[in-house]
Amino acid sequence: MINVLFCASEVAPFAKTGGLGDVTGSLPVALGKLGVRVAVVTPRYRGIQSSRKKLSEKVTVHFVENEAYFNRASLYGNDGGDYPDNLERFSFFSRAALGLARETGFKPDIIHVHDWQTALIPVILKTKLSRDPFFQNSKTLLTVHNLAYQGHFSHSLYPKLGLDPGLFSMGGFEFYGKINLLKAGLLYADALNTVSPTYAREIQTKEYGFGLEGVIHQRRGRLKGILNGIDTALWGPEKDRRIKKTFSAKRLDGKAACKAELQKSGGLEVNPRIPVFGIVSRLAEQKGMDVLLESADALLSRKAQLVLLGDGDAVYKRGFGNVGRRHPGSASVHIGFNAAEAHKIYAGSDFFLMPSHFEPCGLGQMISLRYGTLPIVRRTGGLADTIEDADADPKHGNGFVFEDRRAHGFLGSVDRAIRAFRDTRRFDALRRHAMKMDFSWDVSATEYVKYYKEIMRG
Ligand code: ADP
Repeated sequence: MINVLFCASEVAPFAKTGGLGDVTGSLPVALGKLGVRVAVVTPRYRGIQSSRKKLSEKVTVHFVENEAYFNRASLYGNDGGDYPDNLERFSFFSRAALGLARETGFKPDIIHVHDWQTALIPVILKTKLSRDPFFQNSKTLLTVHNLAYQGHFSHSLYPKLGLDPGLFSMGGFEFYGKINLLKAGLLYADALNTVSPTYAREIQTKEYGFGLEGVIHQRRGRLKGILNGIDTALWGPEKDRRIKKTFSAKRLDGKAACKAELQKSGGLEVNPRIPVFGIVSRLAEQKGMDVLLESADALLSRKAQLVLLGDGDAVYKRGFGNVGRRHPGSASVHIGFNAAEAHKIYAGSDFFLMPSHFEPCGLGQMISLRYGTLPIVRRTGGLADTIEDADADPKHGNGFVFEDRRAHGFLGSVDRAIRAFRDTRRFDALRRHAMKMDFSWDVSATEYVKYYKEIMRG
């Protein structure tokens, strides 16, 4: 049996700001089903009631406690930006996660860490703890969920890491005079992966590498792309209690009820013949929110409706708020993070918009497919690996794909989508096809197990 210590800064349903939490909350469960023994470690943030909980019968989550560091209003920062002590917070967490393994006697074969918050762990193991008998057979895997977030900190904070000053160098933490936690993790982990095959290739290029393309390219022999799955117990129209009426590929009438409800609750004209474009997203440039904001008026001039749920950058919160005010009967804008509302949008929309400039994997497109909501995406990262254009490939098509980053490219695919929507028979077939696709964790969790074994063999 393989023992995996899973260390992550967020784990759904306990804490989540995005796809990272979804993945760390569902992959361990899928691994448990495949016979892997997984122990998950994550911070005990405000609102989490006990220090141990279960993700499934087999998977226990251990929470690392520290009042001063983790009992805060949010995970990483507030309106003023990132918390200034994030380096200390996650350096503390990384050490505590290893300490917890030792205390509980859980000897890991693999220590699976995620993103910059836990990227310190491979470094600590290869330096401070290199002779520690407890971790003698432990190998590390670092999963990059988004290369844009690297954990940059001022060099002056380096002593807080408690590591050899010599590690602040080109072959370690140093990145243009600053500390870069992810960079060191990429260099020290035994193995790496990212969350889709296309993104694994993209991050070796200047366009997508955020300055780390050289490091990634150097370690490409140790890098894999494994597509994320979605938690089909949580996301599925057949049993979803948060939606107006359940439905399935065979019984689509419930979807019409969900759409009518979405239109009604958003103050939009309740009309099945008007296509509804949904968005559930972080409001960030990465997600193509600049393109969407620029195109919103044009989209709404096409007798279409827009339902947006998102939180993030102030400029987009303001911008989309104004779109909502300019188009009261056809645009419904909710600023905030709201899980229940997200389900209603996935279920009630006809199309789901993801015009991302880059997208490591993306979960929204896979979730919306489950609900028969066709994604409109830019061809990048995980979007390129999961969505086929319905015009270019009528047999396998499950959405609409564009390449051009500008509004023009996006609106072109919107027009093609509206054309498909008007052809009821074709649209119905597309929808049913989309709903039958399998994006559960089964396939990807098996790939992780294979990779773990490969890493253990060295
Ligand atoms: P990322 O992790 O880059 O934000 P993903 O597509 O991988 O993007 O995952 C986003 C996840 O967060 C999805 O489960 C999506 O439904 C959810 N989500 C994003 N924004 C919101 C929001 N404002 N309210 C509720 N859920 C949201």
